[in-house]
Amino acid sequence: MAKMKDEKTKKLSEKLLVKKEHTATVEPGSVNLAKEFCEGYKQYLDAGKTEREAAKAACVLLEKAGYKPWVPGGKLKAGQKIYVLHRNKAVLAATIGKQDLAAGAKISVAHIDSPRLDLKPNPLYESDSLAYFKTHYYGGVRKYQWVTIPLSMHGVVVKSDGESVEISLGEKPGEPQFTITDLLPHLSAEQNKRTLAEGIKGEELNILVGSLPFDDPDAKDAVKLETMRLLNEKYGIVERDLVRAELEFVPAHHAADIGFDGGLVGAYGQDDRVCAYTALMAEIGTKAPQRTTVCVLADKEETGSDGNTGLASAFVFHFLEDLAEAQGVNPRRMYAASECLSADVSAAYDPSFPEPFERRNCAYINQGVALNKYTGARGKGGTSDASAEFVGKITNLLDAEKVEWQMSEMGKIDAGGGGTVAKFVANYNIDVLDIGVPVLSMHSPFELTSKLDVYSTFKAFEAFNKAP
Ligand code: MN
Ligand code: MN
Repeated sequence: MAKMKDEKTKKLSEKLLVKKEHTATVEPGSVNLAKEFCEGYKQYLDAGKTEREAAKAACVLLEKAGYKPWVPGGKLKAGQKIYVLHRNKAVLAATIGKQDLAAGAKISVAHIDSPRLDLKPNPLYESDSLAYFKTHYYGGVRKYQWVTIPLSMHGVVVKSDGESVEISLGEKPGEPQFTITDLLPHLSAEQNKRTLAEGIKGEELNILVGSLPFDDPDAKDAVKLETMRLLNEKYGIVERDLVRAELEFVPAHHAADIGFDGGLVGAYGQDDRVCAYTALMAEIGTKAPQRTTVCVLADKEETGSDGNTGLASAFVFHFLEDLAEAQGVNPRRMYAASECLSADVSAAYDPSFPEPFERRNCAYINQGVALNKYTGARGKGGTSDASAEFVGKITNLLDAEKVEWQMSEMGKIDAGGGGTVAKFVANYNIDVLDIGVPVLSMHSPFELTSKLDVYSTFKAFEAFNKAP
């Protein structure tokens, strides 16, 4: 009798209650598929350490898959694959649907800029026979994490004759690397009294770039001179060119498998290139969709999406309107019928730092792609908040396609918070849901994701694109 009652209770709880499980338990075959998928992902991370490089690497993958550059006014036909490289920092790719854009577009958005150290306009100086670059950090960084690690230099310098010089230094074996120093423990008694936030200050993030003098005992600032001489020799630039340059310093290490089982990817810049790569691969895999699929890889999310390569600008919407116009469709009809997955990473629960998380409502590593009905802070401020109807539609779709997903919030109420680009899309009367990969050590020089979650996110984009 007792046994029968146990069985009944088990069945009832299975029917009525949510069970959180490891994706490897629910989908045992997915581990190998996920590991295989992440080999390409790691290559993409190493090829694109900045927004410019990530955009370029995406274009290489698109070209290889048969996508052709598109200019407004060009004709469109079903099944056609097109892309636009926007100001070298953002990418728009699309597969034209069988239905015209009055039926709406299926839009996946992710960002390809990541927190980093940019150079100030007048960066180079010498102090006590060492040459340094002054930096101004980009995006939310915990400054103490950026000292005593190897850094590489990336970016573009426009010379006085208008020529653009592209720089990537410190990535290949044998190339010089750079770093920021910190005090030794023996002499850090005073520094140790600072709070963690102030442990390293913005003006202390000075990158050591030279230590040998120019070969003339009478030379003034001989180490600075020698540094500039080497830069001139290698890139043909002078100090004045640095004033108008875009130079970014990022961690020099490469993507790696983490853990004895290699279940995690460790790398710089996974926020949000993990969503960029998964969305891009799903777009590339889309064949003859009913509705036009559009993959947007945007810049400037980490500084609030302002600027003409960020989602707050009109470039994405102008592109969509150009597509609609090419089919003689009123853009407003297209927007009203469109759907969007706004893809950005989620904070993964960290067992070593449980305090800021609300354990019943946070994202966990290896439990699938994280969905956020809303983001924001202080009473859902600054969020687009997806409707029950749209959340229902997407989650039912993911269930039907056997994609592991979890619904989450970032952390405890009022513990902090953050926004995404979802609201900029929603402002155009488009249904939007936030989705993304849970990340440990987010915004640090070495972020962690689970390969299973990366694969679940790819499968989510794939299901979204495939659905009629
Ligand atoms: Mn992000
Ligand atoms: Mn971020």
